[in-house]
Amino acid sequence: MEDYVDMLHVDVMDGHFVPNISLGIPVIASLRKATNLPLDCHLMISNPSKYLEALTEAGADLVTVHIEAVPDPTPLAERAVDAGLGFGLVVNPGTPFATIAPFVELCDMVLVMSVEPGFGGQSFMSEVLPKVTEARKFVDVHGLRADVQIDGGIGPDTIGVARAAGADVFVAGSSIFGTADPVAAVAALRQTIEDEEQNARAHSRS
Ligand code: ZN
Repeated sequence: MEDYVDMLHVDVMDGHFVPNISLGIPVIASLRKATNLPLDCHLMISNPSKYLEALTEAGADLVTVHIEAVPDPTPLAERAVDAGLGFGLVVNPGTPFATIAPFVELCDMVLVMSVEPGFGGQSFMSEVLPKVTEARKFVDVHGLRADVQIDGGIGPDTIGVARAAGADVFVAGSSIFGTADPVAAVAALRQTIEDEEQNARAHSRS
């Protein structure tokens, strides 16, 4: 898989911010030993501040935290920078982009959830696409560095519209690992993105 994807997205759940419990620091440390891919750790946890140093030691490259859990993320973003960690903010489907807008300049990643966080295998919520576009425009207009990531229900039928809306980082789980040939699934997703980009270029010329 390592040659086919750009990073590994790790969903960390605490049984509090979301009802499920997933994996913790020791698993991230094992992943670090098993791959050279950047580890993008999506912290669906109530108190990410408590784990920042441990995540850094375990080998995380970037952490994203929910604005719903950390309404004032500035101190955390500063600590992440000090620790050499990339930092990003996440908005749930029901949370407006405006809640993170003041902090996007601190971010390497803005993550728009396209399902409710905490469970795999949910269907894509297309109503979040305008928020993806809002994030993309905000980043572009202000000349910021953040990537716009989308997470939840991304597969062959949804990745094109997500790209068209302005996402540039795509989290896919079930649509890759739920297939018989994960490498082919990734190739097909990449092809869909390329097709969408070609479409967009064709439109902008006409
Ligand atoms: Zn995630």
